[in-house]
Amino acid sequence: MPAGTVRPFKAAETFMPFARPSISPEALAEVAACLQSGWITTGPRVKKFEEMLKAYLSAPQVLTVTSATAGLFMVLKALNLQPGDEVITTPMTFAATLNVIVLAGGKPVLVDVERDTYNLDVRQLAAAITPRTRAIMPVHFAGLPVDLDPLYALAQKHGLRVIEDAAHAIGTEYRGRRIGAFGDIQVFSFHPNKNITTGEGGAISLRDEKISAELQLLRFHGMDREAWARFGKTGNQHYEIITPGYKFNMMDMQAALGIHQLPALDGFIARRTELVGRYRAALADWPEFILTKDPAYPHRHAWHLFAPLVNVGAGTRLSRDGFMAAMKERNLGTGLHYRAAHLYPYYRDTFGWKPGDFPNAEFISERIVSLPLFPSMTDAEHEHVIAGMRDAFDHA
Ligand SMILES: *Cc1c(COP(=O)(O)O)cnc(C)c1O
Repeated sequence: MPAGTVRPFKAAETFMPFARPSISPEALAEVAACLQSGWITTGPRVKKFEEMLKAYLSAPQVLTVTSATAGLFMVLKALNLQPGDEVITTPMTFAATLNVIVLAGGKPVLVDVERDTYNLDVRQLAAAITPRTRAIMPVHFAGLPVDLDPLYALAQKHGLRVIEDAAHAIGTEYRGRRIGAFGDIQVFSFHPNKNITTGEGGAISLRDEKISAELQLLRFHGMDREAWARFGKTGNQHYEIITPGYKFNMMDMQAALGIHQLPALDGFIARRTELVGRYRAALADWPEFILTKDPAYPHRHAWHLFAPLVNVGAGTRLSRDGFMAAMKERNLGTGLHYRAAHLYPYYRDTFGWKPGDFPNAEFISERIVSLPLFPSMTDAEHEHVIAGMRDAFDHA
């Protein structure tokens, strides 16, 4: 459209956040029923949600927890890391991924990401493995699966555990198999911005019965019996403390949401995929953005985020932060997932990381922006977002 014929953009009255959970009336009723039942904490609804997760993921063992952060931390504690033990992960992730390695007594070792997918570059993994390496923690960024076959082959060769940070990846598939259905250990997040939510919450899937038993203990005070088994009619009030444990159990009040969110997940992902298709088509020839590319291996992307790169300096005069501010002025929310984790003060100071260490993560870190994406977004709302973006650049 030639300049001058563009209809002026008019901001909406209300702010559109970049993410918005979809909570059904049935889920609301379930939360109310839970509160009215007199049993709010871990109990029958958690059991039911865990059974549903096992079925959805085809995972023999599933443990719900208070958050993915708690789950990742507890899994690393169960591996009994010794000082100096190394865990390999990515700088292009939420800080929790690195924080839990440090908190569990390990040393994070980073491998740069691919510029096209933001996922850990599996081809660079072998060079990062040392005699102190204990585990690899890949992150399925935005719900795009990491190339797991070569990653697991390498882990097997070196006797390493694999803990998949699957915070973005419930519903993701790799080569026809769902994340959680195979491999070593996966940790999912049900934070309100993620693809399904329990308020706060998370879940661990695994096949190792010994680690699973250890996690059961660590999740709840190191007690050999959970409260539901003690205070129910057939319960026994006595318990033993087998090890000092944490307090990472999900509540029934949270699971009440989960048991209605999970059956809606595939529909949510289908709508997210549709909206991303519209974004990709609309932005394909905009010089202002660099879009991600799909890997060649078969996969289902869960599209937790749609996060292109603002083509700073080359395609637009706007910086990423300038673009985010311009969108906010137009009552449109955006998100920043993520700045490269190695450049946070704690990580620079403690591990000596500096700009230039992971060039692809830094390139992404300076440009990435999460555009509004949630299942309840209408086509008209989506067109409004695109118009707002066009307007933001036209007035830069
Ligand atoms: C959200 C997130 C986490 C933490 O999840 P919580 O459930 O909020 O603790 C961990 N890793 C990644 C990559 C995340 O996006």
